[in-house]
Amino acid sequence: MVTEVTGMMTVVQCWDDGVTADVRLIEILRRHGARATFNLCAGLHEAERKPAGWAYKETEVWRLGWNEMRNVYDGFTIANHSLTHPRLEQISVDAACREIAEGRERLQQFFEQSVPGFVYPFGSYNETVMSAVRKAGHMYARTTQSVGKPFPPENPMAFHPSCHFLAANFWSRYEKAKECGVFYFWGHAYELISEPMWAAFEEMIAGINADPETRWGNVADLFDEASDALNVPDKPDTDDT
Ligand SMILES: [Zn+2]
Repeated sequence: MVTEVTGMMTVVQCWDDGVTADVRLIEILRRHGARATFNLCAGLHEAERKPAGWAYKETEVWRLGWNEMRNVYDGFTIANHSLTHPRLEQISVDAACREIAEGRERLQQFFEQSVPGFVYPFGSYNETVMSAVRKAGHMYARTTQSVGKPFPPENPMAFHPSCHFLAANFWSRYEKAKECGVFYFWGHAYELISEPMWAAFEEMIAGINADPETRWGNVADLFDEASDALNVPDKPDTDDT
């Protein structure tokens, strides 16, 4: 659906860590009909929302509770960000495999949808971690490294985005990406810490929405459509059982 040849650029975005600021971010996305993927750590949420235990620029970060996540993320795509957000290449292989596989399983069970995507906590990975992510059934794994031409990636297990949403050269990267047909930005909703920042974010989403040369897509759909050419693993289990 997103890779048919029309000369349009597909814009995809994803947001990490399952924080309470996602609620406000999603209100904005819904207002503009934007699609997005949310990358969650199933082992870090409790029944009700709670402080993450750290602050971003003096603002305490909170994680969403399981009791609200189905509603909050309704209509959006979920991806796996590991079970508890460790640096995966610094723990044992067994522990890393569990972080990756159990994270995916729990999200699939809870959201009753396939979870084909993975995002490396802290953007850190190595060959062993990449192989574990692939074996656990993921179609792609996002890093934090910015590239000019994100799609198709050389290796779907090291899928580099176009840039962070606060990148100073966001719009020049966006325009340049029209040559490759895909623009992929990412971030954390907790980075939006002031009213001017929220307003600028909404303007950014509205600006993309108003561009007749682009349309919103889902990250996973890119891989779904191109799976033969990309040599990605078989499509992960669907939720039809
Ligand atoms: Zn994270």
